[in-house]
Amino acid sequence: MAAPVEINHVKAQGIVRITWDDGHSGEYPREHLRGYCPCALCQGHEPAVEKRFVEVPDVGLDAIEPVGNYAVCFRWSDGHVTGIYTFDYLRSLCPCSECEKN
Ligand SMILES: [Zn+2]
Ligand SMILES: [Zn+2]
Repeated sequence: MAAPVEINHVKAQGIVRITWDDGHSGEYPREHLRGYCPCALCQGHEPAVEKRFVEVPDVGLDAIEPVGNYAVCFRWSDGHVTGIYTFDYLRSLCPCSECEKN
C-alpha cells in the first residue's frame, strides 16, 4: 500500500498536492476531494458500485489531520469533518491521467 510522504494544501491554487512514497504525486482539486468524501453521510450506507460525488462549490480546507498511520481527515470549511480518507482511497481518487487509466 502506498502512503503519502507529503500532503500540501496549496491554498492559492485550490488544490491539495500529495506526494507518495513510491514517487508518485498528484494534485487534487479541493472540490474533487470534498466531493468524494468517503463518509456514510456522503456515500450512503448501502455499498454503491460507483462513488458518489457531493457537489460543494468553493469549499475551503481548514486543516489536514493524520488518522493513525493509515488515513487522513480533512476539515472542510463547510463544517464537514467526518470523512476518513484511507491512503488506498486517497490514491484511488488521484485525478492525474496516469491513474485515471486504471
Ligand atoms: Zn462526508
Ligand atoms: Zn496519479
